[in-house]
Amino acid sequence: MELTDIGVIKELFSRHGFSFSKTLGQNFLINPSVCPKIAEMGGCEKGVGAVEIGTGVGVLTKELAKRCDKVVAVELDERLRPVLEETLSEFDNVKIIFADVLKTDLRHVIKENFEGLDAVVCANLPYYITSPVIMKILEERLPIKSLTVMVQKEAADRICASPATRECGAVSYAVRYYSTPKILFRVNRGSFMPSPNVDSAVIRLDIKSERLLSDDEEKRLFKMIRAGFSQRRKQLVNPLSVALGVDKKMLEEIFEELEIKPTARAEELNLEKYAQLARNKKLFG
Ligand code: SAM
Repeated sequence: MELTDIGVIKELFSRHGFSFSKTLGQNFLINPSVCPKIAEMGGCEKGVGAVEIGTGVGVLTKELAKRCDKVVAVELDERLRPVLEETLSEFDNVKIIFADVLKTDLRHVIKENFEGLDAVVCANLPYYITSPVIMKILEERLPIKSLTVMVQKEAADRICASPATRECGAVSYAVRYYSTPKILFRVNRGSFMPSPNVDSAVIRLDIKSERLLSDDEEKRLFKMIRAGFSQRRKQLVNPLSVALGVDKKMLEEIFEELEIKPTARAEELNLEKYAQLARNKKLFG
């Protein structure tokens, strides 16, 4: 069954009484060249287990299942159950969990299903939860090699932006801390049904195995970055002294010792400077 064929999808939906849900971010891929590319560039091959988030009709699931030993997909919309039973009937290496990915214990899913396999995550993400999903996967330090996802083009630019550049946001720092990000290729809006108002891009985050900071230092690092970016137009010392409950003068002294400009804004510090602050004994004695 050709799941990128509009006629096939329409016939399938009318038979199962399915209609698209805008609130669930249901824009399904109909460009036949995209899913094989996501699967290949996402590291899907023998010896690998893939977690997918949001199956839709299973167009990407199929490409993952053809290449990987096993696929576990998490899909929120129960109405897709009978559709997927039909579209994925030829595969015996696919398991679908009908649940909200943000409430799913992915560590457990990987442990239970991918014993002896390397794990990757591949998905065409529902756009309304792009950042929460990426942050959940990174912060939980799941035992995966990479995360290859389709996101809106603007989100891709921000997620992959280098820290201490104009384009960066708090998410760019988290992404760089845990991984090495790369924009793989752009996908235009006409590749989806229904067509969204924006273009998309596929990005891959290669997960770093080494750790820069301890658990406590890591918590402080992200607390400072969140505080700084919540008021990114202000000089960093102001939101930081409030968030950490420390005297502004003392903070200015520490900035001087670390060679950070007293007037610096959140986006002017690179990751290493935030790490130095997170490790600072005067600040967190
Ligand atoms: N992979 C399919 C494709 O490429 O055509 C569908 C991608 S569509 C952009 C996103 C999918 O994520 C939809 O099937 C939607 O129902 C599902 N979804 C939305 N919110 C979700 C959530 N919180 N947890 C799991 N799946 C979700």
